[in-house]
Amino acid sequence: MNYEPKKNPRLLAADYLLPISAEPISGGAIAVGEKKIIAVGTIKELGEKFPAVAIEHFGEAVIMPGLINCHSHLEITAMRGFLDDVEADFYSWLMKLTKTRGERLTEEDIKTAALAGALEGVRAGVTCFGDIGRFGKAGFEALKINGLRGVLFQETDFSPDDQTADEEFSKLQDKFLELKDSETELVRVGLSPHAPYTVSRRLFEKITDYSIAENIKISVHAAESNEEKDFFQTGAGFFAGVYKKLNLEWCAPQTSPVRYLSDIGVLQAKPLLAHCVKVSDADIRLIADSNSRIAHCPKSNAKFGHGGAPLEKFLSAKIRVGFGSDSVASNNTCDVFEEARFAALFARNRADKSRFLHAREIIEAATLGGAGALGLEREIGTLEAGKQADLIVVSLDNLAQMPVHDVYSTLLFASNARDVQMTMVAGEEIYRYGAAKKIDEAELKTRIKTIAVKMSIG
Ligand SMILES: [Zn+2]
Repeated sequence: MNYEPKKNPRLLAADYLLPISAEPISGGAIAVGEKKIIAVGTIKELGEKFPAVAIEHFGEAVIMPGLINCHSHLEITAMRGFLDDVEADFYSWLMKLTKTRGERLTEEDIKTAALAGALEGVRAGVTCFGDIGRFGKAGFEALKINGLRGVLFQETDFSPDDQTADEEFSKLQDKFLELKDSETELVRVGLSPHAPYTVSRRLFEKITDYSIAENIKISVHAAESNEEKDFFQTGAGFFAGVYKKLNLEWCAPQTSPVRYLSDIGVLQAKPLLAHCVKVSDADIRLIADSNSRIAHCPKSNAKFGHGGAPLEKFLSAKIRVGFGSDSVASNNTCDVFEEARFAALFARNRADKSRFLHAREIIEAATLGGAGALGLEREIGTLEAGKQADLIVVSLDNLAQMPVHDVYSTLLFASNARDVQMTMVAGEEIYRYGAAKKIDEAELKTRIKTIAVKMSIG
């Protein structure tokens, strides 16, 4: 491995260390260099290897890879709870969101919201986001300022008309290239053609060709609801009404959304598909065979009443699956432990489940799975020498977590964001014991509350 260890690495230890790539280590320790992990082992082993270095012991806690939130919309964090009154009707939900974002919020407000959303993740042990941004710059800057890792997927506008595809593509490309210019080692940019029902076939094809030629990561919302499925299968239903209202033509391909994405070539770009709730076994095979990935967002799906994706089938098909909070407007929290717990409980409780999911594979999905979903599994997702030092310390000393019989089980079924004590990205601590290191949280709270007042009174 090509890392350059500092003369004096930091040694962190805790009652448990979860490498994910190997069995849990009781009394585990990790040596962290400038950015990367130098060694992982027992406290005794690392103490002997680095005799001159003091060990910092977190006690009753777990050191584990950072959590990965591979589908978020940080820029609409100020909408938390704001749309709950219209969420029974997805069209009204979307209209209220678009109108408020376009008419009542300034660019500065959206930036503030994204900063707050990213900080919520930091406090919850998220070290890496796959964030979708209509106003891409807001999420992009929020990740950078918080010291996080991530991929910002610059999203398309509503663009269902083939006629305007060239113009839409060049608009998107301009935004992408502007962000690309200020990419860092930690924060990269990708593209998000929003969804099969808002992006024309021609625009999809152009984005796909571009992303394959330039090696750009892409993410697409896909197979989220029955309404979307019906629109593709029969051309009828909710979206047919929307198209009619807007005077748009639609010729249903009479196939599933995933099959449609495969047919028009999008799966060749190995996209990260968000949701995949309405998928058949044949769709799952298309996703697996094309090496596409999935962002599983069980809480958002449930909050809308869309149903639940067959997580255990994705994992059995060896698809790279991570968890996504989606926006806090449809969740309403960014807590990957809670998301993982909900995923496990929902998967076990589905009447048509194909098998029983175990705690260990769910915690793997929350870490290594998310890394794979974002195409970053060589850099992050496990605690191994040579990988980036993206890690968290999760306390186990809350009465509600005791006793610990199996550490995976305690993390999944009895822990949450509030148990996270420390968050580190690329060797740099960005949060510890309630305090963000990079951001003035008190000031941010005041700004978010001010934005909320403005949203409500218009
Ligand atoms: Zn989404």
